[in-house]
Amino acid sequence: MASKKHEQIRTGNSVTALKQAFLDNLFYVQARYMDDASPGDLYQALAYTVRDRLLHHFNNSAKQFKYDAARTICYFSAEFLPGPHLANNMINLGILDNVRQMTAELGINLDTLLAEEPEPGLGNGGLGRLAACYMDSLATLQVPAIGYGIRYEHGIFKQEIRDGWQVETTDKWLHGGNPWEIRRPGIVFPIKFGGHTEQTRINGKFRVRWTPDEIVNGVAYDTPVSGYHNSNVNLLRLWHSEACESFDLQAFNKGDYYAAVHDKIYSENISKVLYPNDEPEAGKELRLRQQYFFASCSLQDMIRIFLVAPDGGLQGFPQKFVIQLNDTHPAISVVELMRLLIDVHHLSWDDAWEVTRNSFCYTNHTLLPEALETWPVHLFAKLLPRHLELIYEINARHLDEVRLQFHGDNRKIAALSIIDESGKYIRMAHIACIGSSRINGVSALHSQLVKQTVLHDLYDLWPQKFVNVTNGVTPRRFLVLSNRPLASLIKERLGHEEWVRDLNQLRALESAAEDGAFQERWRATQRSARVRLSNFVHENFALDLDPDSMFDVQVKRIHEYKRQHLNALHIITLYNRIKHNPHDDTPPRTFIFGGKAAPGYAMAKLMIKLITSIGDVVNRDPASRDRLRVLFFPNFNVKHAHSIYPAADLSEQISLAGMEASGTGNMKFSLNGALTIGTLDGANVEIRDEVGHDNFFLFGHTAEQVAAIRNEGYHPWEFVQRNAELAQAIDLIRTGYFSHGDTELFRPLVDQLMGVDPYMLCADFDSYINCQQQVSEAWRNPDHWARMSILNVARIGKFSSDRAIRDYCENIWHIKPVLVGADS
Ligand SMILES: *Cc1c(COP(=O)(O)O)cnc(C)c1O
Repeated sequence: MASKKHEQIRTGNSVTALKQAFLDNLFYVQARYMDDASPGDLYQALAYTVRDRLLHHFNNSAKQFKYDAARTICYFSAEFLPGPHLANNMINLGILDNVRQMTAELGINLDTLLAEEPEPGLGNGGLGRLAACYMDSLATLQVPAIGYGIRYEHGIFKQEIRDGWQVETTDKWLHGGNPWEIRRPGIVFPIKFGGHTEQTRINGKFRVRWTPDEIVNGVAYDTPVSGYHNSNVNLLRLWHSEACESFDLQAFNKGDYYAAVHDKIYSENISKVLYPNDEPEAGKELRLRQQYFFASCSLQDMIRIFLVAPDGGLQGFPQKFVIQLNDTHPAISVVELMRLLIDVHHLSWDDAWEVTRNSFCYTNHTLLPEALETWPVHLFAKLLPRHLELIYEINARHLDEVRLQFHGDNRKIAALSIIDESGKYIRMAHIACIGSSRINGVSALHSQLVKQTVLHDLYDLWPQKFVNVTNGVTPRRFLVLSNRPLASLIKERLGHEEWVRDLNQLRALESAAEDGAFQERWRATQRSARVRLSNFVHENFALDLDPDSMFDVQVKRIHEYKRQHLNALHIITLYNRIKHNPHDDTPPRTFIFGGKAAPGYAMAKLMIKLITSIGDVVNRDPASRDRLRVLFFPNFNVKHAHSIYPAADLSEQISLAGMEASGTGNMKFSLNGALTIGTLDGANVEIRDEVGHDNFFLFGHTAEQVAAIRNEGYHPWEFVQRNAELAQAIDLIRTGYFSHGDTELFRPLVDQLMGVDPYMLCADFDSYINCQQQVSEAWRNPDHWARMSILNVARIGKFSSDRAIRDYCENIWHIKPVLVGADS
C-alpha cells in the first residue's frame, strides 16, 4: 500500500505529479537545479520522467508473457532505426499535453528540449526503419515481441555537405548518455571465434568440440518499446560486445571513412560501428563477426528464457518462439541454432533440424543480384570452423532432397546449392530459405519478382513457402507525432482518434474531399508545414524557401536505381525552358533532396555533387531563382524526416520499375497528403490502386517492359537523339555549365548515361517530363490538388504497419495478442 502511494507521486500523470517527478529527476539523476540546468540536462530529466512511467508496464508485460507462456515473435535485425523516443513515448502514454503544460509552467519550451534528443542511427534507411515501425505496431497490437539487434556505439555516419560534396563524420549518439537503455550486466553470453574442431566420444556418444582462439562477451542493453494507449511494453534487446581476450589486429584499409574509425573497431569491439550498405563487396570480416555475434547472443538468450520454464524440452522451442530474419544479415542464426541444439544441448540431428526449420521465417528485401549476401568459404573456415562443417552437412542433406525432386538436373543442383558454382562462396539467402518455413517479399510486385528471378529455383522446390507481406509504416510517429496540425484537423473532422489504431477509418475523410471549406483548411495546414520547414532551413542552412511554391521532395538513400539524377535532369529541363522562353509560366517549385550515399559508392556521391551544383546555378541565376529553388538537405534521418514528409506536396518515387522492393517513404509521404509521381515499382503499384489511378502521377516503363528492352538490347543514345530536351540537359552537364567549365567532374555520370545507362533514365525521361507537366497543370488548380491530397490520406489505411503486422501474425507467425492489464 505504501508503495502504491509512492508510485502515484513518482509516476502519476497529473501536471503536478509530472512536475515533481521532473524536478526530482533533474536533481537526483542530473544533479541540477532549474537555474543551472543545460538544455541537455532538461532533456535527460524529462526522458527519465517518461521512462519511469513505462517501467511498471515493461516489467508487467514480461511477467505476464512468461506466466501465459505466450508465443513470442523475435525480430532479428542487424538494423533498427527508431528515431527519437521521447515524444513518441509521451504520445503512447497519452501524457503529451500535460507534459507540455508542465514544462510551460516551468518556463521551458518543450520543442527545444525535444530537439536535444540525438538520433539513434542504428540503421541505414528503409530496412532499419521498417524494423522500428514493426516494433511500434507489435506493442500497439499487444503482440509479445522481442527485437534483437546490435547496440552500435557509432550508428550511421553523419553527413555534412562541404563544397557540394558529401563528407562523413562519425556519429556519437551515446555521448550524452542514453536514458532509454538499461544495461543488464547479468545477461551476458560468450561468443566464440576461430580455432578448430575435434571429434570426441562422451559416454559413447559422438560429439564435436569447438575450441576457439578468441572469445568475446555480449552484454544485453534493453530499451522499452511502448504501445499506443495500452499497457503493453515490449523489449528491444541490443547486444554490446566486450572483449574478454585480446585479438589479432589485421590490416584494414577501405577508404577514408573506415580509416577514421579503424583503430576503435579493431582495438575495442565488434559492436563499434554500423556498416553503411551499398558498398562494393569486399568480404568484410568484421561484418560477418557482427552478424554471428548478434545471432549467437540472441539465440543463447532465447534458449535461456525457454529453459527457465518447467517443461523446457527444446523440441518445444518453436511453440514458444518464432524468429523473423530481416534480410539475410542474421541468416547465420539458422546454423547457429543447429550448433547450439546439437553440440550444447545434445539433440539429434533430425530433432535439431525439425526445431530449426520450424523456428525461422525470412524476409527478402532485394532483387539486386549484387546485393545478395555471400561470404567466402575461407572466411568461414577461419572464423566459424564448426559452422562451416554444419553448412556442408545441411547442404548435403538439402541436395539429396533436390536430387529426389529434380532427378539428374545438374543445373538445378548447382543453382540450389548453398555453395556457389565456384565452390568459394556461401550463399546466405539459400541458408535463410532452406532453414525457414516461410519466405516473404515486401510488396505484391516484389514477391512476384522474387519467385521469378532471385529465388526462382528455391520457389520451384518449395512454392508453398513463398508469401507476400506488403510493408507498412506507423501512423503514430509519421502522422500523430510529426504532423500534429494535420492530425488535429483529421480528428476534428472525424470526431475521434480511432484511426490512429485503425488506419482504415481514414476512409471517412472521403466525404470531405469535395468540401471547399475543408479543402481550404487542408491547404492551410499543408502550408504551415512548409513554413515550419522553411524556417528550419533558413536558420540552419541560410537558404530562403518560398512556402507558397510546390515542395517537390525526394528523400531516401542516394542510389543509381532510385534515380535522383532523373529528378536532376527534370530540374535542368525546367531551367532550360525558363532560360530559352521568358514567357514560360511553369509554377514555382522548390526541389528538396536528402539522403546519404555509401562512403565507398563514388557514383552516388557524384550524384550529390551534381544536385548541389545545379542548385548553385539555379538558385543564383536571376532568371530562375524566383521560380526554381534547389536544396540538398544534409544528414537525412528520422528526426529530420519528421519535418520533411509533412511539408511535401509532391513525392518522388521514381526508381526504375523492378528495382525497389517496396519503399516505405512513398507511404509516409502519401499519409501526409503529398501526391506521388512514380513508376510501377514496389509498393507504388498498390498505393496507386488504393488511392485511385486519378490521384497518382504515373510514368515510365513497367518491370516487364524493362526486361523486354534489356533482352532486345538497350541503346540509351537512341533515346537521347530523339529527345532534344534530354540531349540539351545532358549537354549542359557535359560541357561544364554546372561545374565552372570543368568538363571532367561529371564525366563518369555522363558517360554512364550515354553509354550503358543501366537504370534506363533515358528510356523513361520523356514519360517523366510529360508527367511532371501534368503535375504542374494540376497544381494550378488548388481545389483539384487539395481534393486529390485528401483522397490520398483517406485511402492510405492499408499501408499502416499495423496491417502488415496483422498479416504476419495471421499468415506466418500464428501469434495472438496478449493484453497486459494496467495493474497486473
Ligand atoms: C522511410 C525512411 C527511409 C526509406 O525511404 P524510401 O523512400 O522507402 O527509400 C530511409 N530513411 C529514413 C530516415 C526514413 O525515415
